[in-house]
Amino acid sequence: MTSQKPALHPFALMNVEARLTEEQRAMQSVVRDYLNKNVQPHIGQWFEDGQIPARELAKELGNIGLLGMHLQGYSCAGTDAMSYGLACMELEAIDSGLRSLVSVQGSLAMFAIYRFGSEELKQQWLPKMAKGDAIGCFGLTEADFGSNPSGMKTFAKKDGNDWIINGSKMWITNGNIADVAIIWAQTDEGIRGFCVPTTTKGFTANLVKHKLSLRASITSELVFTDMRVPDSMRLPEATSLRAPLLCLAEARFGIIFGVVGAARDCFEVSMRYAQTREQFDGPISRHQLTQNKFANMATQLTNSMLLAYHLADLKDSHQIQPAQISMGKFNNVNAALEIARSARSILGGAGITTEYSIFRHMSNLETVLTYEGTHEIHALVLGEALTGISSFR
Ligand SMILES: Cc1cc2nc3c(=O)[nH]c(=O)nc-3n(C[C@H](O)[C@H](O)[C@H](O)COP(=O)(O)OP(=O)(O)OC[C@H]3O[C@@H](n4cnc5c(N)ncnc54)[C@H](O)[C@@H]3O)c2cc1C
Repeated sequence: MTSQKPALHPFALMNVEARLTEEQRAMQSVVRDYLNKNVQPHIGQWFEDGQIPARELAKELGNIGLLGMHLQGYSCAGTDAMSYGLACMELEAIDSGLRSLVSVQGSLAMFAIYRFGSEELKQQWLPKMAKGDAIGCFGLTEADFGSNPSGMKTFAKKDGNDWIINGSKMWITNGNIADVAIIWAQTDEGIRGFCVPTTTKGFTANLVKHKLSLRASITSELVFTDMRVPDSMRLPEATSLRAPLLCLAEARFGIIFGVVGAARDCFEVSMRYAQTREQFDGPISRHQLTQNKFANMATQLTNSMLLAYHLADLKDSHQIQPAQISMGKFNNVNAALEIARSARSILGGAGITTEYSIFRHMSNLETVLTYEGTHEIHALVLGEALTGISSFR
């Protein structure tokens, strides 16, 4: 006999959203409604086509205040970290590629300028980027230096008051559509960052094709050939590898919330399916094995949400530490992937098409597990924090 009780959403079961303020809830629901109306109907097709109208989207997302939203001044919204996290969650409930567009713009490119740039660079780029009138990318990874960026080969040589940059970067989100690139390069004095318009002579972007993950996102190789830039394009406060790593910590915070959004969508889609799909003369949601999947998914989803909230509290009180962010990414991305796989199995054959969002989330999450520090690298960060022993080499 099937129960007639109303079905509870995991977040309602544990009342996890009770701790949000009215303002945070209102912002979250504005973002959710906007995305459900304007982006959700198209995202499956964009993913299939391997294209996304990133320029148009950036303007729209800028209009609703989502670009660089946690930064103060320069036309940025200046919200708290919790609100920024909640917006990332809604973006990634649609697609990780959409959240990547916003993360790279706000937390990597804009944050690098905001935290390490001169006042002139901030005035030049941040207001345009906040409105989506200019798009940024962030070039740290190279083909031979991913997990270990300290070995980067891109080199900036001082020449009078200019720098001449040679080298290349790989896997750079937004590279082909960017107006400005944050480029990290080795110099005679150590690693430095440069804020370079992509129209600069010697700058080339080549599209990465044949991706099976994050297809609704632009990924590029950047090549720099005798690219001459004035010293005024250098980020003066960035004086070591610590600078790009701080930017990555900002972006990872968005991922910690974002993947909860992707996992939430997987849970909701599979629950709707299980309540209407009938086998052996009744809905598949009545089977104990299916319910066990929902029990596990709901518990993982709730734990991930609570961890994200806790990290937002730490960030809003300016206490957050890199190892704490590593634990958030380590746990939440892995949990989201497990939820996506379990949700996919509930849909049976229907789960492998783009008609439902789950497989798309699952394939996107494979990238999220790898970028912004791989799952293994975050395990090593946690291992070092817990034992005091570094095992990177
Ligand atoms: C779609 C996409 C978008 C991206 N966007 C950007 C971007 O905008 N900007 C940017 O700079 N980068 C970007 N990246 C790059 C991303 O950050 C790197 O892919 C990531 O850091 C891993 O580097 P790698 O791919 O070279 O793998 P590798 O570093 O070669 O790692 C391969 C494997 O070895 C493991 N490994 C490496 N070292 C160790 C160790 N010490 N101990 C144990 N295991 C280890 C890794 O965990 C991984 O499993 C993007 C990547 C993708 C796929």
